[in-house]
Parts: sequence; C-alpha cells; structure tokens
Amino acid sequence: MTHDFQTDSRSMLARLRTAMAEEAAGQARLDKITHLIADSMRTEVCSVYLFRDSETLELCATEGLKAEAVHQTRMRLGEGLVGRVARTGRLINTPDAPSEPGFRYMAETGEEIYSSFAGVPIQRLGEKLGVLVVQSKIARRFSEDEITLLEVVAMVLAEMAELGVFVGEGAALSALHTKPVVFRGTTGQEGTAEGHVWLHEPRVVITNPIAEDPHRERERLQEATEQLRDAVDRMVSGIAEDDKEQLEVLEAYRMFANSKGWMRRMEEDVARGLSAEAAVEKEQSTARARMESITDPYLRGRLHDLDDLSNRLLRILSGQGKETGADMPADPILVARNIGPAELLDYGRSLRGIVLEEGSVGSHAAIVARSLAIPLIIHADRVTTEALNGDHIVLDGDNGVAHLRPEDTVVTAFRDKMAMQAKAQERYGSIRDLPAVTMCGERVHLMMNAGLMADLPSLAGSGAEGVGLFRTELQFLIRNQMPRRSELSALYARVMDSAAGRKVVFRTLDIGSDKVLSYMKPTDEPNPALGWRAIRVGLDKPGVMRMQLQALIRAANGRALSVMFPFVAQYDEYRAARAEMDKAMERERILGHPLPASLEIGAMLETPSLAYAPRRFFEEVDFLSIGGNDLKQFFFAADRENERVRRRYDTLNVSFLTFLQGIVDRCADTGTTLSFCGEDAGRPVEALCLAAIGLRTLSMRPASIGPVKSLLMRTDLTALRGVIDKAREDGLQSVRGPVMDFLRADG
Ligand code: PEP
Ligand code: MG
Repeated sequence: MTHDFQTDSRSMLARLRTAMAEEAAGQARLDKITHLIADSMRTEVCSVYLFRDSETLELCATEGLKAEAVHQTRMRLGEGLVGRVARTGRLINTPDAPSEPGFRYMAETGEEIYSSFAGVPIQRLGEKLGVLVVQSKIARRFSEDEITLLEVVAMVLAEMAELGVFVGEGAALSALHTKPVVFRGTTGQEGTAEGHVWLHEPRVVITNPIAEDPHRERERLQEATEQLRDAVDRMVSGIAEDDKEQLEVLEAYRMFANSKGWMRRMEEDVARGLSAEAAVEKEQSTARARMESITDPYLRGRLHDLDDLSNRLLRILSGQGKETGADMPADPILVARNIGPAELLDYGRSLRGIVLEEGSVGSHAAIVARSLAIPLIIHADRVTTEALNGDHIVLDGDNGVAHLRPEDTVVTAFRDKMAMQAKAQERYGSIRDLPAVTMCGERVHLMMNAGLMADLPSLAGSGAEGVGLFRTELQFLIRNQMPRRSELSALYARVMDSAAGRKVVFRTLDIGSDKVLSYMKPTDEPNPALGWRAIRVGLDKPGVMRMQLQALIRAANGRALSVMFPFVAQYDEYRAARAEMDKAMERERILGHPLPASLEIGAMLETPSLAYAPRRFFEEVDFLSIGGNDLKQFFFAADRENERVRRRYDTLNVSFLTFLQGIVDRCADTGTTLSFCGEDAGRPVEALCLAAIGLRTLSMRPASIGPVKSLLMRTDLTALRGVIDKAREDGLQSVRGPVMDFLRADG
C-alpha cells in the first residue's frame, strides 16, 4: 500500500464523512456521494445500484450517466455486468466492458462511450445490498489500489444503507418485527420449550464507519484485540484441565485470535481511513462471502470460528451486545445463525432451547445440544433477521417448528402439550428405579446411548441400566487433531468410573460417511454412506484402531470391558478386528498392564449382509447390536440424511420387521446376545414392537427411557405379538395401524 494511496483514501473518506453528516434527503445524499467518488477517483462515471427486491437492481444515483435513467434503469439479478457482480458477490474490473460476456448495452444511460468498467458488491455481512460502479472512456484496468478504495467505499455505503441513510427509516420496518412468524426447520433435538429470544450475536450497529484519526483508530483496534486475546485465554484457562473436548475447540479460537494476517488486513483498512469497527466488519463480510461458496464442513467450521471472533471483537469495540447490553432473560431460547460447540458448552444448561439458521443434524453443536438435552431446531431460515432480543418464542422440537411472537391460541395449545409432558415426566420419575417388566411378565433391558462425558450424568437420572452404545467418534470429531492414547484412556476410564459398575459398550471409531475428521485427508467418494467408513477404515489403517483398543484396555484397568465394531458387513471383517484385539491384549500383557477381568467383543449389525453370515459367525461373536439407523437405510435404500426420503419407509413396515425377526431367530438358535441401538429403540411404539418380536435389550437416548419403560410396563407383549403376526398374515404393508388400534383399545 503506497503512502499516496493512503492519503487519497483518507481524504476521500473524510469528504464522504462530511457529505454524510450534512442534513440532506436520501437522494441528495446519494447524488453527492457518486459525484464525490467520481471526482476523487478521476473517473467520468460513478453509479450506485441498489436492490429493489431480491431479484431486481435499480440505478439509484449516478454521476456521468444520463440523469433520466436514475430510478428507470433496472436489471435482473445476474443480468449484465452489474447483475453479475450482484449475483456472484465478486468484483469485475475490465478495460473493455462491451467485450465481457453478458454485457448489456443500456441505451437510456448513454453508456456506450465508456470502455473501462469496475464494479464491486455493496454487501453487509453476507447480505447483498447493491453494486457500486465506476466507468471511464479510456480503456484501462483499474489499479489494485483503486479497487481497494472502491471496496472500502462500498463498505461505508453498506453501513449507511443499514442505518437507513438513503431510504429513511420506513414505518414498514418496525411493523416487520411485531407480527407472529412460524419457522419450519429440521429437528436437531426433540423436546418442547417456551421462553424469550436471546440473540447469540445481537447485530452490532456501526455508526461511525469512517474514522477521523487513523492513529487513534489503530490503537483502538489493537487494544480491543488485546482484550479479545485475554478473553480467549481466560476461557481456555477456565476449563478443567482434563476437559480435552473443550480445550481443543478453544485452541483453534486462540490460533485465530493471534492470526497475523487477520490483524494486518484490518490495520491496512484502518490506515485507509475506516474505523476499527468497519475494518473488523469488512473482514467478517469477506469471510461470510467465502462461507457461502464453501461446502467442506471443516473449512466452514473454521470460517465460523473467525466469524464468531469478529463478533466478539465488534462487541468489545462498540460496547454493544451481550457483554454490556440487555440482561439474558430467565428463560432464554438461543437464536443464532450458527454456533460452535464451545460456545454452546459456555451457555450450558441455562438455555431452554436453541434455534439456528444453519447447522446440521450431525454438527458438533447438535451433538452437544443432544448431550445437554436442549431442544434444537436447525435450518430456521431468516430467524436471526426476524427475531429481536426478548421476543416471546415457543419451540416444537419434535416437529422442527418455532413460533416467534406466537398468537395466544398457539401458546395455549402449546402449554397444554407441555403440561401433559410434565405430567408424564413425573410418572417416569416414579418408575425410574423399577425394572421394565411388561404386563405379561417379560423383562426388557433399557440402556442409553452416549458419546460425550456430558451425557454421563443422565445414566442415573434416566434409570438406564448401562450404556448400550458409547459412540467414541464424537471425541475425535470435536477436536482439531488426533487425540492421544493417554487422553483417550483417561476419558474412557472416567466414563467407566461414572458408570459405577454398570455396563458400558464402547463402539470403536465409526468415521466416514457423514462423520468427517478435520485432520484426516478427505476422501472424495461418490457415495460416502456406502464408502470407506467405520471398520473398513479401521482395518485398512489399523494404527488408530490399535491405539484405541489399547486405550480401552488400559482404561478398564482390570475391570470388565465390552467393545463392539461398527459396520461389520461380513464374518472376515469381524475376525480381522478381533485378531487386532487379541494382539492388543497380548501386547498389554507383555507390557505388564492389568488385563480386563472379562472381555466381550461384539459387532454391530448394520448391513443386511451380516444377517446372512455363516452360523460360525453367530457362534463366535460375543454379542450383536443392531444399528437400526444404518440397517434401515440400507434395507430400504433410503439415505438417512436425506430429508426427502428418510421418513419415507416405516420402521414398522412388515418386510423390515420380518427381516429383524429373522435376526432374532438366528441369534436365539445360536444363543447369541442381541440388542438394538438405533434411534427407533427410543420411539415408544417402535420400541414396543421391537420388544414384541424378541429384542429384549434396547439402547436409546436417555430422555426416551422413561416413555419407553412406561409404555412397556402397561403392555402385554404376547398380545401385541399376536397383532403383529395377524397384520403380517393379512398382507398389510405396515403394522402401525393395527398396533395403534391395539394400544388405544388398551388405553
Ligand atoms: C446406527 O446406525 O443405528 C447406529 C446406532 O450407529 P450410528 O447412528 O452412530 O451410525
Ligand atoms: Mg451406524
């Protein structure tokens, strides 16, 4: 950046500030600004195009084009060069505009005489507002400095537009935030909640995009960054040393907070004349624009970290936002574009519910929300734009619906539903320590699924008999680097300690498909769910599996140990994995470590192929657990992650139940212990049917134990079995109808 350029930039921004400060109507102001830019940049034309609606741009002010064209010339998004800048959010800089693809000649503006064209988007934090254009007769490419200046000005214009400087504050705007709005998203975690909106990132309003004194501004930026770094350091040191999950996440934050590149770019913008706040937000806008085009979940996650840090920095600089602003309501429902697992752990159980614009069912935040049993709705489009701090909101997490500023009738219906649920909870509490014995005297074992330390308190609270599925990959997923063996064994030991003698079935690493480790080389597979995942990765790259098996043996430290391998599709895979376990045991024995008092090695039955494995397999395996989520998706060939098809086939479909029945029969024949640990085990009606066809160990979300147990205790499984058999004989597609009739008749 040349000194001259800095001076040009500053003097232009100073003129801009004066123009903004003057009393003038919106249009007069815009006219003045285009004149000023053209004059400062020595170009014949400067024009501002703003969005009229989401698809149409309108020429709103110009210096150099025909004045009659203002508010007349319009273009669709993507049309002509201006439309292209608006659509892509990327600059166009060309010495020969008419030869650019998509150039549209607009006779009414008289622009044919202008050869050079530079257009930059006017956008604020990913929200597109318009396009700023300069044009000149001589054919030349605008210099990098000139383009940077244009971008800085576009940034200032975006802030001004946000403040309503051009259009004036419309009455329509305030009406916008009083009406009830319903958001239909996707369920991230079931449950219902009522409360008041707490915006995770209240919009920081920047009133001073242009600075008077760049030196002072630079100091402000540096002081704020120092404060930010201290805050991150404090967060890191506030975490228990053994809480590796949170530490790993926060280390990534610390790295960004100390990033030299980030700081340098902001300092350069301050040197050009922007205020510290505007410089931070400019960086943030760039990151958000990048985020739109990136699909890699890891990179998106990191850009999100950066976005989050920028928000923190903006709040420090402006004194606005959660640190200084409004008090958090007593019943907060968190509303955010997205949130990282660390921030969510920060809020902890204080939240009643969470609504996100982005996120995914498998995201780390969703994992944490599930661990904390907080209702979560994701993909609630535009909720951060609509919701204001303190707004009344109710969440129907079961259906993925949020009602913002709900009508009274909605609230009443909702409260009735919650009251019924609360009553049910009371009932579940009273049966918590009773065994699940059905009316016909059958005993069903109810276990819980877990994956984080945060899950373990539910073990006692839910009445689960143990952990039927401990998903070990979550520990790997929420970190930025491969965990060490010692860390893993310490963690597994703590899990066993918390279980206090109850059984814990550890499932070895199940990665691939939707579970991608940021620190492993990504594999580009056409069908990841059918690809290189789980045990396939473990056997091909045995290093991690060996390390994990060793960590498990050491964690058991002489106690009983249960391990199962995910996604075993044929007998050989089980044998190979078991051989690894034998080797690990032998190694530990030689090293003099205590060996587990007992060792059970099982397999997850998640592909139909394993149901037809040779009898020897069923005899050899210590236990089998049906991973119903995967098994069902392969049975029906319906992607469990695809909203379009994932609910298309009923678990109570007769074909599927018959298939499961076959597995039960084979296990009975060989005396193989069998359980079921997919999500369906936690759905009361499905759980009843699974128990009725002979699955007597079910592992589910902790919150499901109460409802499932309560229903089991009131049901005659033998009679239910009769209903299922009859439906099958009658040739029905699903047993759901007759089963529901039976349950209703039973009260
Ligand atoms: C399953 O597939 O049912 C299962 C329990 O494993 P996951 O959901 O972790 O794939
Ligand atoms: Mg699975």
